[in-house]
Amino acid sequence: MSETTQKICPRCKVELELCRKSYAMGSSMFEERIHADIYVCPQCGHVELFAARPEMEACPKCGTVHPVGQKCAICALGTVLDGKYGR
Ligand SMILES: [Zn+2]
Ligand SMILES: [Zn+2]
Repeated sequence: MSETTQKICPRCKVELELCRKSYAMGSSMFEERIHADIYVCPQCGHVELFAARPEMEACPKCGTVHPVGQKCAICALGTVLDGKYGR
């Protein structure tokens, strides 16, 4: 599988340059902000946004895959449940 990461300006047919990677869009009031890779055409300034895929990592405890930098929801839930009900 060879996935091309080239972004081409529809007008100039030149390669867009990555300006900001995983730029957090919107207000910091939102907990879940949209992250976008911002590409700019060096010739005409045309800007294209591409939804940034969050990098994923596997939880070392339970193996659940979750976005890097976030706590594992399964383990967080398990901690709460263990405290109340045991196992
Ligand atoms: Zn262009
Ligand atoms: Zn976990």
